[in-house]
Amino acid sequence: MRCLPRESGDPARHGLSIDHRRPWNTGSPAGACHPAGQGPDRLAGDDNGGPEMTDTDTTRAMPRSAANAAPLLSVRNIEVVYDDVILVLRGLSLEVPQGAIVALLGANGAGKSTTLKAISGLLKTEDGEVTRGEIIFNGERINGIDPDKIVRRGIFQVMEGRRIIADMTSLENLRLGAFTRSDNEVGADIDMVFNYFPRLKERTGLAGYLSGGEQQMLAIGRALMARPKMILMDEPSMGLSPLLVKEVFAIIKAINRDLGVTILLVEQNARAALSVARHGYIMEQGKVVLDGTADELRDNEDVKEFYLGGAGDQRRSFKNLKSFKRRKRWL
Ligand code: ATP
Repeated sequence: MRCLPRESGDPARHGLSIDHRRPWNTGSPAGACHPAGQGPDRLAGDDNGGPEMTDTDTTRAMPRSAANAAPLLSVRNIEVVYDDVILVLRGLSLEVPQGAIVALLGANGAGKSTTLKAISGLLKTEDGEVTRGEIIFNGERINGIDPDKIVRRGIFQVMEGRRIIADMTSLENLRLGAFTRSDNEVGADIDMVFNYFPRLKERTGLAGYLSGGEQQMLAIGRALMARPKMILMDEPSMGLSPLLVKEVFAIIKAINRDLGVTILLVEQNARAALSVARHGYIMEQGKVVLDGTADELRDNEDVKEFYLGGAGDQRRSFKNLKSFKRRKRWL
């Protein structure tokens, strides 16, 4: 299996200074510095910081590589029910290795956001429950734990539609992201976020007046303020122009590379997601129907047809017989 080419990192492109590229996600306590060569760059056999792959890796290369080191997140055969009766996830399993970006793709209603909420504990706020299976993060079972405790364990979800606090400033929103912290480096991390997103520093008014792209950047910045081990991103491309999608995804990639933050990325924009992810899972009707490396998914005829626009306008119609047969073949 071929590795994705490593891109030349250019911190200046993102307005970064070297001082702000402080990895905090290689298992060390928050804020710890890493000796030369022992930060995320050492993990990064690829540009996403995932485990290095060799030519002998198979189609399931990511989970197999991860077998050498336990994955940071392991979702095992979970079932999710809303309101005690609505079964939405039906035996869903996936793994996210430390330091990787993994994409979770699928059509509307497949259960992607539900999967993220099951991991972050936010299901509870919507009368949802993991009724079967388990979710292991950093070696510990986390299903059933309250969302604030899950944040403290290192998982931060960037919700679909941004969900920033509209009548607070960007700065206040960022401070809010650090609610779990008691160290004295919050100010330095705000500077770091402003280095990733310089335009947020210029916009001193209420966050509700920010553009859609700026709100997305603020939501990601707020997540970084928690110094998470892992960010769950729900549709960061939603409502953004193609140019902004490119910009936001370049920053997602830079954050993963520079800080070693592991990312599980839910997207309907499969093309954008596979441009930054190392591995992807495709969901339909509450379960994973396909997974593989980003290259494999991009080359897969079904993925091209359903998610990469290979069939033009026709791909939207499941009444189309050929598409329907393809879909059945997956299930
Ligand atoms: P989208 O991209 O449209 O958000 P998705 O793949 O993220 O789609 P989910 O939002 O997880 O899908 O929804 C999966 C299914 O669960 C849908 O049928 C949806 O109607 C249902 N669902 C989601 N949230 C709830 C809820 N709070 N109560 C009951 N059913 C829900």
